[in-house]
This record gives sequence, structure tokens and C-alpha cells, in this order.
Amino acid sequence: MMNCPYCGFHDSKVIDSREINDGVRRRRQCLKCSSRFTTYERLQPVGLFVIKKDKRREEFNRDKLLTGIRKACEKRPLPSGTVDEIADDIEAELYHSGKLEVPSSVIGDMVMERLKSLDHIAYIRFASVYREFADITTLKEVVDSLVSGEPEITRPTNQLPLLSAEELEELSKRDQRKGETKSVRTIKA
Ligand SMILES: [Zn+2]
Repeated sequence: MMNCPYCGFHDSKVIDSREINDGVRRRRQCLKCSSRFTTYERLQPVGLFVIKKDKRREEFNRDKLLTGIRKACEKRPLPSGTVDEIADDIEAELYHSGKLEVPSSVIGDMVMERLKSLDHIAYIRFASVYREFADITTLKEVVDSLVSGEPEITRPTNQLPLLSAEELEELSKRDQRKGETKSVRTIKA
């Protein structure tokens, strides 16, 4: 049993349960604050190791990943659950890759790629820590690249949840029936 990520309460009820490639995905609702969150139960055959910049190896830690993303997204107008979605997504991709070791830079790039299409401020915050901006010129380059970037990333983030969580869920199920596994991202209510 996992504590509620919002209030820390120890008990939740399962509102939906679905088999995924290598385990079970469960939507849960906290019995205290009613927040919804998702848990994944999966077989974890071997530990995944992260190779740091200084070549040290350490076991992959989802909480560390979450903390980094959460800091970048602090007070940004993102749907609740977005941070967990990003972390889940990255974790799943890492385990699916079948690699035993992953450079920390690869994980950083995976976070940046996702933040870039979600929220520019969060993206710049994350980039400034992760790329260790040495000066304002580097920052300006990143901002310039955003401004001249692909048109879809300039869309305001408050237009993201056009569909309710249930509708998105339904859509993603439909896509999976069609055999598309990389489908519509669900946004938690
Ligand atoms: Zn709670």
C-alpha cells in the first residue's frame, strides 16, 4: 500500500485496475482527501543504475526524479498529477529500454523533452539547474530557441485539459484497442 502523494494518508481505494505490459496499473482515490493518483505494480527484475556526471553509479530513485520535476513545476498552472505522470512515463520508458545503466544526462533530457511541450517556465527552470547555466547568455539561447521553436509548444498550457479525465481515459483505452500503445496521455483529475 502506498501513502497518498498529496496528504500522506495511508489508505486508498482502487477505482480502476488495468493490466499493462509488465504489470498492473491502478487508479486510486485517497480515503482522506479524495485525491486521485496512480500506482503501478510491476515485476522489477533487476535494479536500474544511473551513471552520474562524475561517473558514480547509484540506483535509480523515482523520488529523486519526482523532486526535480516538482521543483521545476512549482506554482505552474499544470493539471494536478502532471508531475507524477511525467515521472511514471519516464520510469516506464527506462524499464522498458531493458538497459541496466543509464547516464543521468539521458534522464535529464527525457524530463526536458516532456516539460518543453507542457510549460516553458518549468522547462527553463529545469534546464537552468540541469544544464547548469553559467551565465545569462546561455539562458537567452534557451529562451530564443523556445520562441523560434515549433508552433505547438507556444500554445497556452491552460488549454491542455480540453477533455475531462474520464474522456481522456476512454480515448486512451480506445487507442490501445487499436494497438497503439503510445497513446493519449491521461491527465488526472
Ligand atoms: Zn490524501
